[in-house]
Amino acid sequence: MKENIVLLYVEDESEIRTNTVRLLEHLCDELIVASDGKEGLSLYKKHKPHIVISDIEMPIMNGVDMCRAIKKIDSNQHIIFTTAHSDSIYFMAAIEMQIDSYILKPIEYNLLENKINSIKNQIIIKNRLKEQKIICNEVTRFQNNILFVLDDNSKIIFANEKFLEFFSIDNIKSFNDKYKDIGNHFIKNSGCFYPKKDKYWLDDLNQTKDEKRRVVSLKDKDNNLKVFVITFNEISETNHSVFILTEITNLNREKNSLKENVYIDALTKVPNRLYIDKHFTTEIAKKDRENTALSLIILDIDNFKNFNDTYGHLVGDEILVGLSEYIVNNKRKIDIFGRWGGEEFMMLLPNTALEGAKVVAEKFRKLIEEYIFYNGLKLTCSFGISEFKEYDSKESFIQRADDALYMSKRNGKNRVES
Ligand SMILES: [Mg+2]
Repeated sequence: MKENIVLLYVEDESEIRTNTVRLLEHLCDELIVASDGKEGLSLYKKHKPHIVISDIEMPIMNGVDMCRAIKKIDSNQHIIFTTAHSDSIYFMAAIEMQIDSYILKPIEYNLLENKINSIKNQIIIKNRLKEQKIICNEVTRFQNNILFVLDDNSKIIFANEKFLEFFSIDNIKSFNDKYKDIGNHFIKNSGCFYPKKDKYWLDDLNQTKDEKRRVVSLKDKDNNLKVFVITFNEISETNHSVFILTEITNLNREKNSLKENVYIDALTKVPNRLYIDKHFTTEIAKKDRENTALSLIILDIDNFKNFNDTYGHLVGDEILVGLSEYIVNNKRKIDIFGRWGGEEFMMLLPNTALEGAKVVAEKFRKLIEEYIFYNGLKLTCSFGISEFKEYDSKESFIQRADDALYMSKRNGKNRVES
């Protein structure tokens, strides 16, 4: 942005005018000259000059009246008075109008030049700031992210349109008045940052070294929970920090559902082999640590192939779903149950020795035998049990239960063996 400085000079005495114009011509890009206040005001309206330099004593309209009219149009207008009078009445008028300078005649050209240059610098700085503000607003307006700047009192001093939209407010003052600190808006949500009770949120967030954990939840104007990655940076040479919130609500939802799905059997919706397998490791470690017992039941639907062959696979699937649901509804809370594969299921019984596991298995054997499944069908299951021994590995633990299940099948099915 190149400033084209326009100057208006108003002076009724032609000799002074001619001499001063010679200087002023070098100090601006465009010089407009008038010989009385009325002409000066009319040229002012036409050219909107950056600086007005005016005599006071003039015919038709004097300089004070002209400048009063000009200040009514633009209260920030830069004005310099040049006058032969050091009368206090003019000083008073100049102060009241908040003019930039008051120079006595005969004009000291050095002084006038300095004054003009100083005003020119002010104009340039002001325009630069204005330009910066426009650029800043434009850049942040096109941001899809929420952006805001906090001062060292945690007050918001700048926010982009997305921010105002999210909280449904017109300006940042309304936010600061109504909502106070943005840290109050973080919602407790799984996997999201939430400040500790006795800590200021920004200090706490600053100490969260793992940037992946810098995720926050906020409720939007319609009370919908949204998840964002929060990044921030101190703005150098200020006490301000800029914050950017990038929304990952959908990504987060997908991630959570993927995490769940990977452990769920697609057909029966009970935990799958991967889930149980993971729990073998943790339960064995827990058993060792707490010196308690751990048992395992493997159960398998008797003659399941016949169901499939007679009624079709869809009925077979219904039976698997129905049995899973029935067992889940009747099992103890601490027991870990899931589908191991095909028509085979597993139950891991923490804090339970072999005798206890037998009781549980027998309970289920009876319940299943009596229960009427899909379309009036009845079925039975065979059970194999093992208790984890000191010398056991996960594999040998499972193998013994599997061997027992085999025994149970061989000994006539619908039985519990250990
Ligand atoms: Mg005069």
